[in-house]
Amino acid sequence: METFIRTITGSGEDDRIYREAADVIRSGGLVAFPTETVYGLGGDGLDPDAARKIYEAKGRPSDNPLILHVAAFSQIPPLVREIPEKARRLMEAFWPGPLTIILPKSDLVPSETTGGLSTVALRMPDHPVAQAFLKAADCPIAAPSANLSGRPSPTNARDVWEDLNGRIPLILDGGESRIGLESTIVDLSGPVPTLLRPGFYSLQQVKRVLGTAAVDPAVFGALPADVRPKAPGMKYRHYAPNVPLILVEGEDRERAETIQRLADPAKKTAVLVTEETLPLYGDAADLLLIPLGSRRYPEGIAHRLFTTLRALDHLQLDLVYSETFEEGPMGMAVMNRLRKAAGFHIIGGKDKETDNE
Ligand code: AMP
Ligand code: MG
Repeated sequence: METFIRTITGSGEDDRIYREAADVIRSGGLVAFPTETVYGLGGDGLDPDAARKIYEAKGRPSDNPLILHVAAFSQIPPLVREIPEKARRLMEAFWPGPLTIILPKSDLVPSETTGGLSTVALRMPDHPVAQAFLKAADCPIAAPSANLSGRPSPTNARDVWEDLNGRIPLILDGGESRIGLESTIVDLSGPVPTLLRPGFYSLQQVKRVLGTAAVDPAVFGALPADVRPKAPGMKYRHYAPNVPLILVEGEDRERAETIQRLADPAKKTAVLVTEETLPLYGDAADLLLIPLGSRRYPEGIAHRLFTTLRALDHLQLDLVYSETFEEGPMGMAVMNRLRKAAGFHIIGGKDKETDNE
């Protein structure tokens, strides 16, 4: 299959591109599109065949459910059994934006879309291209991130192309995604609101709106094999570069020393560092030091994380170490992705208690 990239330029030509994208969706096909978080791979959310095509194009296990994207509040009621007061409050606070809400699904939503679950994930993105595409398609769009399963999520059209060229008919190019990490997921289908995946909107912000929220243990670590995570996606290896990645915990100086001590000169090794910690590596000439940004601006680190993980694949490395980050509002999301990218391979530092109130 030939894959076309259409660039949204803000000119009169855009309407024609959105009509083309809507035609692809109406005929059961898939369209990759930009959102403020990452690029999504969209299909008609009410068509079981479109869901199957999404799983196939990504090589994604079909028990890993998709998120339904909408352009307007009026699209939500038919998709769910009811909209609880808490969901209304979150929607009012954070929609349109990078927040996904899980609610019990209605019969209209096919179980293929929800990976067999009785709940459905809902999101209203604020990216102008996503909104225009969703309006043109005129149906809820089921969309996971537009990467091959297990790879870092794409934050631009080129990264989508790298993974899905030949597998999908159309990519809408709307530039670089603003946030660069996937949406915050809050499960409101049970008695206690639960954060299933941290993102741009933090646990603290969700708690401010709801009063209370728990954190799913899968956010922090690998689950024992017999425990089923609430967000099925959390059990799969994810975001991984093709080179082994090891996270190193500890104080800044201690961490830099550990990495320099462990680094094997016979192996081509890179280290993901920050502006603040870069000088601690002195003249470690055999290490490729890659700054992710400043620790004072974790949003910048989040924004660069997936592109950096993808870039590692092109550097013919044997091993990559990464510094860890404080689990602050954005840091929790960054660390969640890094831990998964490293397959939970973490050394140094002390065991920390996790906030799971
Ligand atoms: P992605 O689109 O790649 O960001 O993946 C969507 C994420 O949402 C995955 O981690 C899914 O497991 C999660 N998800 C989607 N639907 C549900 C649901 N009904 N219940 C819990 N998690 C969900
Ligand atoms: Mg994904």
